[in-house]
Amino acid sequence: MTPQRTGSPSVLILGAGIGGLTTALQLHRVGLRAQVLETVERFAPVGVGINILPHASQQLGELGLAPALSRVAVLTRESVFFNRFGQLAYREPAGLDAGYADPQYSIHRADLHQILLDAVVDRLGEDAVLTGHRVVRVDQDDRRATATARRPDGSTVTVAADVVVAADGIRSVARAQLYPNEGPPRYSGVMMWRGVSVWPRILTGASMVRAGWLAHGKMVIYPIRDDVDGRGSQLVNWVAEVETPQRTGRDWIQHGELADFLPYYADWHFDWCDVPALLSSTATVLEYPMVDQDPLPRWSHGRLTLLGDAAHPMVPRGSNGAGQAILDARAVADCLAAQPGDPVAALRAYDDVRRPATTNVVLTNRANPPDAILREVYERTGDRPFESLDQVVTQDELRRISENYKRIAGFSHAALRPASP
Ligand SMILES: Cc1cc2nc3c(=O)[nH]c(=O)nc-3n(C[C@H](O)[C@H](O)[C@H](O)COP(=O)(O)OP(=O)(O)OC[C@H]3O[C@@H](n4cnc5c(N)ncnc54)[C@H](O)[C@@H]3O)c2cc1C
Repeated sequence: MTPQRTGSPSVLILGAGIGGLTTALQLHRVGLRAQVLETVERFAPVGVGINILPHASQQLGELGLAPALSRVAVLTRESVFFNRFGQLAYREPAGLDAGYADPQYSIHRADLHQILLDAVVDRLGEDAVLTGHRVVRVDQDDRRATATARRPDGSTVTVAADVVVAADGIRSVARAQLYPNEGPPRYSGVMMWRGVSVWPRILTGASMVRAGWLAHGKMVIYPIRDDVDGRGSQLVNWVAEVETPQRTGRDWIQHGELADFLPYYADWHFDWCDVPALLSSTATVLEYPMVDQDPLPRWSHGRLTLLGDAAHPMVPRGSNGAGQAILDARAVADCLAAQPGDPVAALRAYDDVRRPATTNVVLTNRANPPDAILREVYERTGDRPFESLDQVVTQDELRRISENYKRIAGFSHAALRPASP
């Protein structure tokens, strides 16, 4: 265990999700004390797949988590784009195959969460995460910050620390308290259905496929666990996205109906995947509206700051929701360690670094995420099968869209350490 620095700030983290747990690990790395309050009493293995791109996997690797991640995740090797007729439009290597020093992990959120939780318990101790503590308000004066939480028996408890980092997700209590007049989430006009199926390997068995376009139905398909049945089948994550004015509420574990979107994919029988069969073989469908919120003018208010989805909820179109929370975690720990005597200034410095960076990602996810490649193909071909794609859009043009997103989200080759030769 890393010894805690005496006289250094103690940190109370709200929410033991991906961002909150990673923050606890980062604070431990720099020798600061962390306590986490989490609303759920017991973590359930809900949710589906998440991608951890090289900028975030570098951070998790530096926390010593690469072996655990590599044991359960699929190390993604390529990113592939098809039109809705199953024709290949663009392909590029990903993760280690693209020359990064760190992999792209395609992983079940529950697996990622369990790895982080195990590491927190191992390094910070059993009582570092207090479950069954639903935070209802945060307060501060010029000496400390507090969070008041309600427990399942109805009792309340107030926990104090030098600073509070609110990583309490899309319905953040801290954000609502700081910005009581913020409007409802902004709907992008696209509904998303998600699920997992046990399925034979698709393409390389480590391919991230994006296909179609939102007007007629778009799919994202990638494997998240290898050999789940002893016969080489994988757990394959799929996401169906369709433009529709009808939307549901924002809840990661809301169940959906296959019948609401299967018709969009009825003729998607391709040699690389029989999409209707894949979708129909899924036991549980989840639905989620593509929503985000306008970037905030400030996250850090005295001894309180926001992190992850609480700070920058984004439409999940660039595999960057978890990744940006992981980058926030590194930054807030580094800032607090750099100015241990002045935690208010440290939180301000964290805000100065991470808010502009994530604002850019939120806005780019609205307009030009990587799937803009599919939009380009859809528009330039007039949504018809093509004979020669090069006549309407070149591979260089499509590559530029991809490279632009990498630069904005922070995982261009130039921004990351190179792979050793
Ligand atoms: C159950 C669940 C399933 C998810 N499934 C997927 C998925 O399949 N695919 C995907 O891309 N993203 C999923 N996400 C979202 C994804 O984890 C985040 O977008 C991303 O990782 C950023 O992480 P975060 O820590 O900011 O938020 P989250 O990972 O959402 O973590 C927020 C945490 O705060 C806790 N919390 C909320 N309110 C309070 C409160 N008042 N007091 C105390 N604790 C509180 C929540 O229970 C949660 O543990 C899911 C989130 C959750 C909570």
